[in-house]
Amino acid sequence: MYFVEVILPLSLAKTFTYRISETEFHFIKKGMRVAVPFGKSKMYTGLVLDIHENAPNLYEAKEIHQILDEKPIATEIQIKHWLWIANYYMCGIGDVYRGAFPSGLLLESETIISHKPDVVVNDSELSDDEFLIYEALHHQSSLKVQDIISILNKKNIFPVLQKMISKDIIVLEEEIKESYKPKLVRYVKLHSKYETDEGLGQLLEVLKNANKQKEIVLAYFQLRASEKKPVTVKNLVEVSGSTTAAVKALVDKEILEEYFIQHDRVSYEGKVSEKQLLLSDAQENAFTAIKESLIEKEVCLLHGVTSSGKTEIYIKLIEEYLLLGRQVLYLLPEIALTTQLVSRLRLHFGDRVAVFHSKYSNNERVEVWRQTLENSEKAQIVIGARSALFLPFADLGLLIVDEEHEQTFKQVDPAPRYHARDSAVVLANFHKAKVLLGSATPSIETYFNTQTDKYGLVSLKERYNNVRMPEIVLVDLKDKHFRKKMTGHFSDLLIEEIAEALSLGEQVILFQNRRGYSPIIECMTCGHVPHCQQCDVSLTFHKHKNQLRCHYCGYAIAKPTHCHSCSSIDLTTKGFGTEQIEQELISLFPKAKTGRMDQDTTRGKFGFEKIIDAFKNREIDILVGTQMLAKGLDFDNVSLVGIMNADNMLHHPDFRAFERSYQMMTQVAGRAGRAEKQGKVVIQTYNPNHNTIQQVTTNNYAGMYKEQLYDRQIYKYPPYFRIIKLTLKHRDFDKLKEGSMWLYQVLSQNLSMPVLGPEEPAISRIRNEYIRTILIKIPQNLPLGGTKKTIQKILNSFEAVAQYRAIKVVINVDFY
Ligand code: ADP
Ligand code: ZN
Ligand code: ZN
Repeated sequence: MYFVEVILPLSLAKTFTYRISETEFHFIKKGMRVAVPFGKSKMYTGLVLDIHENAPNLYEAKEIHQILDEKPIATEIQIKHWLWIANYYMCGIGDVYRGAFPSGLLLESETIISHKPDVVVNDSELSDDEFLIYEALHHQSSLKVQDIISILNKKNIFPVLQKMISKDIIVLEEEIKESYKPKLVRYVKLHSKYETDEGLGQLLEVLKNANKQKEIVLAYFQLRASEKKPVTVKNLVEVSGSTTAAVKALVDKEILEEYFIQHDRVSYEGKVSEKQLLLSDAQENAFTAIKESLIEKEVCLLHGVTSSGKTEIYIKLIEEYLLLGRQVLYLLPEIALTTQLVSRLRLHFGDRVAVFHSKYSNNERVEVWRQTLENSEKAQIVIGARSALFLPFADLGLLIVDEEHEQTFKQVDPAPRYHARDSAVVLANFHKAKVLLGSATPSIETYFNTQTDKYGLVSLKERYNNVRMPEIVLVDLKDKHFRKKMTGHFSDLLIEEIAEALSLGEQVILFQNRRGYSPIIECMTCGHVPHCQQCDVSLTFHKHKNQLRCHYCGYAIAKPTHCHSCSSIDLTTKGFGTEQIEQELISLFPKAKTGRMDQDTTRGKFGFEKIIDAFKNREIDILVGTQMLAKGLDFDNVSLVGIMNADNMLHHPDFRAFERSYQMMTQVAGRAGRAEKQGKVVIQTYNPNHNTIQQVTTNNYAGMYKEQLYDRQIYKYPPYFRIIKLTLKHRDFDKLKEGSMWLYQVLSQNLSMPVLGPEEPAISRIRNEYIRTILIKIPQNLPLGGTKKTIQKILNSFEAVAQYRAIKVVINVDFY
């Protein structure tokens, strides 16, 4: 008898054994998908992990329904990496599998499919099965895979569905909700009737008396000749010094034709810019040092100040690995940053750059999946946020993790709760590849690894093109309040600086930390503050929607007209968020155009990109925003950055609060002064003498590192201790309290290391579930694997206690 060991896309640590026939046994390979029955009536797409002849002894193996691939679709290294992730981050291999595969490749009986809107299908091109499904979807807008099984009256339907998905006839329901269409960019080209030589003559005739228009057309030719890529309307307007209206007039006159391309899909017509990239001396030195370091070491950190030109160095390094024919993975902390980077990389590498992220459609993701598997030319460089780490790379040579300090590299929910930077280092090891980490403000952990010689270190201390580091000015808020020099949240100095920048036509960024200061509504009579019904938080006031919202569960109500507790109508708003800053700005600078970038305004499909583009195009003078501003954006006209209140970051109850405050302030400050002019940063604070603020002011990374490292050792935190955080949740307060105490006691009795808790977190109830946390601190010198095994065993016994079984436990290894 023949068997396969299969991973199912469920939150399970186990693999399952299924029976296969002898023919299948000779055909099937590790890394192929199989459709398998599970439970009473479910069907899943499983992945073959192993092929063997050992029957399971606890259950009778069922037969697989069918093999879904001709060739393996996952590689052995990839699966090995998943197993490492499951083991290290203490989750099921099924969690990793589910998170790794594009859902279009993971059909199951519960998957809901719909027909794609606006697609006209030629009936005659459909097979009989396809036609039946297509028909059924016209009567019912969506169907479960299970329903289709009964419609076709057969089990083996995944291949049919797969085919229809790839033909773009049907889509998974989840996609319709979140389908992502990158921004369309407007381009122009010469109208086809003028494309011939005699056409050009005619064109000159037409434009004889229209000098302004002639200039635009000449600028168009000039751009075509120099840049060798499609011409955007924006570019043309800039170069010709005209207006969009003037270009539009040429389109109306049928001299130019306009067309649209998705911004990150721009094809460069195979013509890559032939300009050799010239590195500055400092960049060149760093580049050489990185290469030398990577001969010996597997990982190197490029610690380069903001705007030192790290990206250009990455590009040079990528070139070398491409010459060797190896693949490159470039990880970014934020999907929204990909557009900028992709345009930059495509200039050098043309269509060898592929993008992979969760907001792309299934078909697009499947395409990149296959391209990396086949080591295709078209995906030699893959850019993506953390999930790109799970692609089936055939021969990965280099991994770049840009802004490696960003906490978004750690996945919070759902499992696997992995850190993409750390998992990248492991993946590199499996591929015998190298890793370059880059940051202006490296994480303490990474810097520690360079100081202990585990990683190489290359520093780049000057900005590209001799741009000076910004001047940082501190404003003492206590003093300003005392002297009555504040207007709302703005000090007189900040107002003056903004006025000056605006008068020079320069742009301003104002940073307001999201945490802690959400505006709320308070009753002036009884002090009542409306809270979420399901979560232990006050509702946040959103002025533009006139709503109160819960940031944890999305619960929303209209702004009350009277107090829910005492019926008084005397209500006031408190706290200060970006919205309030923006309001104040409007009254301070009524003529300036302001914009806001925070969770609210970037929630929509292209929210983030729209705002970035508007700011880049100088349609916005002052941009108010939160953390997102700190993420490696490159603006060329920002001369002033204001940090509204440095203190709420510093006082966050978190062992990384000072490190993060340093990173955030330094990164935001780094947006200032990119051009020939030195930028200015104004930091408003009640604690101008705070060490961290002083370190930011003097650009003293080393000082920050030393101080924080000392604290980490004293208070038992990373890099000296590894932290595992357990989060327990249940609807019943008393049961949770009892259960977490039980778990805490058993853990501390069995582990010879600090176990803290069970603690009630600051927000102790979300979506009606109460929460308790337990922290385990594992010293570096104790074996991690053994400790985790003990913890897992204890968790298993916890689950075996009948009255605690319903308590959910979430494990977060290397909790961030
Ligand atoms: P960082 O990522 O280190 O903050 P960037 O890579 O964004 O810095 O570079 C800052 C700016 O300098 C960018 O606008 C970039 O185009 C420019 N730049 C950097 N190096 C070069 C170079 N060698 N040649 C031309 N422009 C460069
Ligand atoms: Zn009241
Ligand atoms: Zn809520």
